[in-house]
Amino acid sequence: MTTPHHPLAIIGGGLGGLTLARVLHVNGVEAAVFDLDASPAARTQGGMLDIHEDSGQPALRAAGLYEEFRALVHPGGEATRVLDKAATVLLDDPDDGTSGRPEIDRGQLRDLLLNSLPEGTVRWGAKVTGARPLDGGRHEVTLADGTTFTTDLLIGADGAWSRVRPLLSDARPAYTGISFVEVDLPDADLRHPVSAEVVGGGMLMALGAGKGFLGHRETDGSLHIYVALTVPEDEFDGVDFTDTEAAKTYTLGHFADWDKSLRALLGDADGPLTPRRIHALPIGHRWDRVPGVTLLGDAAHLMSPFAGVGANLAMLDGADLGRALAAHPGDTEAALAAYEEKLFPRGEESAADSAANGELMFRADAPQGILDMFAGHA
Ligand SMILES: Cc1cc2nc3c(=O)[nH]c(=O)nc-3n(C[C@H](O)[C@H](O)[C@H](O)COP(=O)(O)OP(=O)(O)OC[C@H]3O[C@@H](n4cnc5c(N)ncnc54)[C@H](O)[C@@H]3O)c2cc1C
Repeated sequence: MTTPHHPLAIIGGGLGGLTLARVLHVNGVEAAVFDLDASPAARTQGGMLDIHEDSGQPALRAAGLYEEFRALVHPGGEATRVLDKAATVLLDDPDDGTSGRPEIDRGQLRDLLLNSLPEGTVRWGAKVTGARPLDGGRHEVTLADGTTFTTDLLIGADGAWSRVRPLLSDARPAYTGISFVEVDLPDADLRHPVSAEVVGGGMLMALGAGKGFLGHRETDGSLHIYVALTVPEDEFDGVDFTDTEAAKTYTLGHFADWDKSLRALLGDADGPLTPRRIHALPIGHRWDRVPGVTLLGDAAHLMSPFAGVGANLAMLDGADLGRALAAHPGDTEAALAAYEEKLFPRGEESAADSAANGELMFRADAPQGILDMFAGHA
């Protein structure tokens, strides 16, 4: 049997990989996308994303999807509140529609991109386990079911733990010192009115030294809360997150002296608690040009979420790479070099911002750092 060949293979159907596939498609170039998820519905995509004027929005324009995106924007979602641990509201910035960062449900954004691609573009249930270089810039890619394919151009859009990255760099994500516990409070206005009031119409940041509650009202009326803790990387190994009550008791133990309205964001949550350790690649991660392969999004520049830019950048990377390939037909290396020349400095800048924001958000005098930041931006 001959090995299947794909001229252009994108590993990962997240926001970055799908934006690339779409921008290539509108420029008349077809790609094959491989994703480990069994189907588009295999995982809830969760959370709201604000889509920035200088990254996510131009990417959606390049994808020809800007108008459809605007129709999905969550009105009021740009409101921001900052509280201290006594639940004193120190900043309450309503959504007046002028921040330039409209909010969208992440799942709806992903569906918008997915549905804009020709049927069959994404191969679901296709987990890549490794790849090796062949001659002439081609690669052979191995899937978990033992099958292989070859490709002329391999793009790693496969996120934090990329299987494509080792072809370009030895870098590995490192733990940032912060872990999240994620919880949901569905139907908040009816079932959790006090929590709904605390979060407000958009985003909540209730911060103290080394910890806090980062929350958001979702389009379905639920509240999605990230409980942030500064803990050692192996701290959660000792917590049984399958025992929801025990996990709540453990997590609430970090907030013993916090206002009860904030503790309720965790205590009253429905469903399981999801632990998530926050990792990042070294700031300024880059590589020397290797023929026939590159990375985008988190695979290239995984950073902490504290600047809220990772998904926006992944989309911009996808759009830029798609446009570069369309602009250099027949000269892939020129396209990749042009793309990486933009990718490296902006990835470095955003990674540095994210790390700095993480420092100031959880400073000993928190939430003063974030208040100063907003004041500086005003
Ligand atoms: C808690 C949290 C909050 C965040 N909030 C924001 C925010 O508000 N704004 C923002 O802009 N960013 C935010 N981010 C960052 C954002 O989620 C990421 O930067 C973004 O998802 C990166 O997109 P991506 O396409 O590069 O990778 P991903 O979204 O990780 O997609 C990678 C895809 O590759 C697939 N895949 C992985 N491995 C393989 C494999 N071996 N074989 C085949 N397929 C594979 C996965 O199934 C997935 O579909 C947040 C991140 C976190 C953790």
